[in-house]
Amino acid sequence: CSCKLKGGLDDCSCDVESIDSFNNGKIHPLLEELLGRNYFRYFKVNLNKECPFWYDDSKCALKDCAVDICTEEVLPEGMRNGHEIKKYMTDSLKEKEECDEMMELSTVDHTLSQESKDAFVEWTEYDDSQLSFCVMDDEDENDMQYVDLLLNPERYTGYKGESPHRIWRSIYEENCFKPVQSTRPSYSPNIVSKGSPLEGLCLEKRVFYRVISGLHSSINIHLCARHLLPDGWGRTKWGPKLEEFRKRFSPESVGPQGTTRLKNLYFVYLLELRALVKAAPYFLNQTFYTGDQREDSEVRQLLMEVLEVARQFPYQFDENTMFQGDPKEARRLKEEFRQHFWNVTRIMDCVGCDKCRLWGKLQVHGLGTALKVLFSGDIIGRTDIPHNRQFHMTRREIVALVNAFGRLSKSIRALEDFKNMMKTS
Ligand code: FAD
Repeated sequence: CSCKLKGGLDDCSCDVESIDSFNNGKIHPLLEELLGRNYFRYFKVNLNKECPFWYDDSKCALKDCAVDICTEEVLPEGMRNGHEIKKYMTDSLKEKEECDEMMELSTVDHTLSQESKDAFVEWTEYDDSQLSFCVMDDEDENDMQYVDLLLNPERYTGYKGESPHRIWRSIYEENCFKPVQSTRPSYSPNIVSKGSPLEGLCLEKRVFYRVISGLHSSINIHLCARHLLPDGWGRTKWGPKLEEFRKRFSPESVGPQGTTRLKNLYFVYLLELRALVKAAPYFLNQTFYTGDQREDSEVRQLLMEVLEVARQFPYQFDENTMFQGDPKEARRLKEEFRQHFWNVTRIMDCVGCDKCRLWGKLQVHGLGTALKVLFSGDIIGRTDIPHNRQFHMTRREIVALVNAFGRLSKSIRALEDFKNMMKTS
């Protein structure tokens, strides 16, 4: 079947070849160029937050886990202190501040006109926080630091053993949904093979598991693709390690799970691709400010090219199949989905290797932003509705979303290298 991937990847065999050729031949080279630009290469992050779930004294001392923090001087002018508050946040954010002011006014001034009261009701109904899938934006500005992503690439760090196992376990066992034996019909029934961790789960919960598993695959592919290898001269170099890849994904080592995990990578790829396409009207109104007008307009142009290529890909994830049916039940399920994802963002503060924490946070934040885009209804890019109901994204969300998709795209590209290596090995 030519898989439409409407969240039901397990229901048909996915047309992986067309995704490979679209990704490797078309969108990946463009993304590489885009992500090398200043607007996307600097990510603001707090790597010092304490783990909120368990006492963690396993702060890792591995050399390859270290992250270089940017000094003020290396940042583009528009991202330096002072500059950034006024100009470098997106225009839409400024609008949001105005809305916040309006809301404050309407809560204290009881003599407000009917018009203002209506606006307040609209605001509370909309409540932007309801859409957010990540907990990261509440971080204290003072603890945030810029990291140059190009100088701190995601690769093998040697982070293994109980610490990462605890993270993955806690994500899968405590925060992914568990099958419930119910006599009620499944929410959106789809056939899932027996023995799968998805057995008995409704579509939405399977999507949740699959995006996490796809992200996990991507992280592990990156560490296989940029592993530490002997260079033949008694030193080491970075390169793809087929043995490591086989150990994690080949049927001989992990059985059919390996293929399923790779399919989940394609699944989360299509989900984020669709989020980019859906967010396109919003990006159209952004300035991508770094303080260098020429650079900013080139970045905008490049992103538009990426979005145009993405739009033309025929297989798009269809978010409209999710959270359908009884509205009360759909709302409850959406809230549950959001809460679980929220927890996953918080678990990233328990990752005991700074480099892994950086990329874990960025990718989870990007995925959360994709979910926010997908489940924001039809308000994206609309300027004909009151400000307080319009869709907004912060710069961090934009940077995280595009970089997170870039990571998935690079993983799919790396798979081709591994396939070629297998043919010749
Ligand atoms: P793990 O990858 O730790 O997996 C644990 C168990 O989960 C496996 O035994 C298997 O049962 C199951 N599992 C594995 N893959 C999947 C999947 N795709 N879907 C569902 N279940 C699965 N290491 C680096 O070298 N560089 C990094 O940049 C890096 N980033 C990380 C970021 C985060 C957020 C975390 C939590 C870990 C990171 N790690 C990184 C560590 C890496 O992911 C592995 O945990 C580590 O290499 C140990 O691997 P493992 O073979 O023991 O299995």
